[in-house]
Amino acid sequence: MAKHTVVLIEGDGIGPEVTVATKRVLDAAGFNVEWVEMPAGASAIEKGHDNVLPQRTLAAIEAHKIALKGPVTTPVGKGFSSVNVQLRKKLNLYAAVRPVISLSGVKTRYTNVDLVILRENTEGLYSGIENEVVPGVVTSLKVASEAACTRIARFAFRYATRFHRKKITVFHKANIMKMTDGLFLACARKIYEEEYPNIEYEEIIVDAGCMKLVQDPTRFDVLLMENLYGDLISDLCAGLVGGLGVVGGANLGDNMAVFEAVHGSAPDIAGKGVANPLALIVSATMMLAYLHEEAISKKVRTAYEAVLMEGTTLTRDLGGAAGTEQFADAIITKMR
Ligand code: NAD
Repeated sequence: MAKHTVVLIEGDGIGPEVTVATKRVLDAAGFNVEWVEMPAGASAIEKGHDNVLPQRTLAAIEAHKIALKGPVTTPVGKGFSSVNVQLRKKLNLYAAVRPVISLSGVKTRYTNVDLVILRENTEGLYSGIENEVVPGVVTSLKVASEAACTRIARFAFRYATRFHRKKITVFHKANIMKMTDGLFLACARKIYEEEYPNIEYEEIIVDAGCMKLVQDPTRFDVLLMENLYGDLISDLCAGLVGGLGVVGGANLGDNMAVFEAVHGSAPDIAGKGVANPLALIVSATMMLAYLHEEAISKKVRTAYEAVLMEGTTLTRDLGGAAGTEQFADAIITKMR
């Protein structure tokens, strides 16, 4: 197997814990890799860097084209702009891909959820354009461009084709945001009509979509949406299959990819050794598939599915009592 070079960002809070556990699992699975460890997040500032996203971290991802990233803390209401938003914009990682799949052994209300959220990653209310109009009145600008809306729509149909998905549902609020969400919708509809009429296509207003998701998530396949809705719906859908500890994700550009869990740095449990590393491990299996290491990806997936099925070594979020390292050890044992 060829040796890969992957940038590794530990991140903040539970980041270092889940990253170490994931590295151990990948190592035991036989992934031949050189990790290029780079700082980002609040921990980068603590280490003396002048930005939460140091230039050398950005340069390393640009050079190696691939990264595995732990969660980072974003200060609320002040300070540096989010590492995640900066990364996605500066590297043009325009598509967030978040598969949400029921796991045997993880008990939830639903048993056969199998959907994927495709989130536009660079625009919407994440433009960061905020103004104080007069003291006491502030605005936040929602941006939609035809180029970015078309790019993510085409990505979604290409994704559905490649992974044999049948239907795309666009979540929107074009009844109120007639221009921005209206453009998002028009671009998706155009790609459907002109390029992929073979794929089933539907549109749903985001609030009604939330209700339908919790009533019956199994009716959905691929969900396509703009940035903020994608953020919110991702966590909602994570809740349908066992929570933030089990959903992985990827941020993809045309020739670059950053794989990361959907969850954040979880300051409430950081440093306690109880975080579930599965979400980052799932993200790592997506990374392995992206690197054409399908056999290793499958080996890891089979092992964690076996641990979940057995149900004796689960982390607290899944109703067990195991710690982060114990859970990783159980996966490693299954691979032997
Ligand atoms: P969070 O995802 O960190 O935590 C929400 C809840 O889920 C908490 O109760 C936490 O304990 C639990 N949780 C999350 N991951 C878990 C895991 N792996 N195992 C077990 N339990 C887990 O969300 P938050 O508390 O709203 O945000 C904390 C920080 O993370 C904020 O600074 C936020 O900006 C940041 N954040 C970063 C990313 C990212 O780096 N991709 C994503 C979301 C939030």
